[in-house]
Amino acid sequence: MNRRAQFLEVLGIPAEWVPRRLAGAPVEAATLVEVEVDIEVATVAVAAVGAEAAAEIEASLPTPTAPPRVVMVEALSPAPQPAVQDEAALARDAAIAAMDWAALEAAVAECTACGLSDTRTNTVLGVGDRRAEWMLVGEAPGENEDLQGEPFVGQAGKLLDNMLGALGLARDRNVFIANVLKCRPPGNRNPEPEEVAHCEPFLRRQIALIRPKVIVVLGRFAAQSLLRSTTPIGKLRGTVHQYEGIPVVVTYHPAYLLRTLTDKARAWEDLCLAREVHDRAGAEA
Ligand code: SF4
Repeated sequence: MNRRAQFLEVLGIPAEWVPRRLAGAPVEAATLVEVEVDIEVATVAVAAVGAEAAAEIEASLPTPTAPPRVVMVEALSPAPQPAVQDEAALARDAAIAAMDWAALEAAVAECTACGLSDTRTNTVLGVGDRRAEWMLVGEAPGENEDLQGEPFVGQAGKLLDNMLGALGLARDRNVFIANVLKCRPPGNRNPEPEEVAHCEPFLRRQIALIRPKVIVVLGRFAAQSLLRSTTPIGKLRGTVHQYEGIPVVVTYHPAYLLRTLTDKARAWEDLCLAREVHDRAGAEA
């Protein structure tokens, strides 16, 4: 099975969703637009009428004529600061910005800067290759992550690992995975803005130390936090953004993908875009 077929299987996209003329084709940049257009149409159609009719619908799809997607890079506003930032906070940010990995690890483990330190079991700094070219950023630890001290474990983590595997990536080899918040919000509630403001210097330093070629942001909250945006995730994805000068691609959170069939194909598009960005960065290096 080629990598593309393997990826679609991981995402739970049946073979009949895949246009026949593309089945078995290698995943190359030149084919991405065709895949995007066809899967988009096929996904909507299947959602509307059911999987059994997919082959019939697919056979009737017109040949896509859309032009190749133009990768746009958006400039971002400066890194967020709390509304009132006192000298102590500025000094803390500056200290974090100068940390090496050992200091960062110790600082996160001991951090009591926000109320989440009262309820956490473990801090979750992140996991993976600290020289990786790919970095994935999620929202915050959940229950299992809090217990194990590692991001993306459980069913969502398995799906994420399978998705990474289909791209030739693995968390212990060539990707680093972290969250915006290093401690679990109780009951998996949404993080508060002050919690993000206190914790983001840690993520910013991680990104500065790793200097990945591409950052893939997983889920609405992480995307909106990192990009300082209130734009819905459906509009943030499909465009290349920037964080601290590094290209950012937005996609759905694996936990969401586990329960939302129709958006799995879009996640595939997003990872294709991320790979395109990564490969382009490699070619320019
Ligand atoms: S969430 Fe971040 S800022 Fe808050 S206590 Fe944990 S490490 Fe510190």
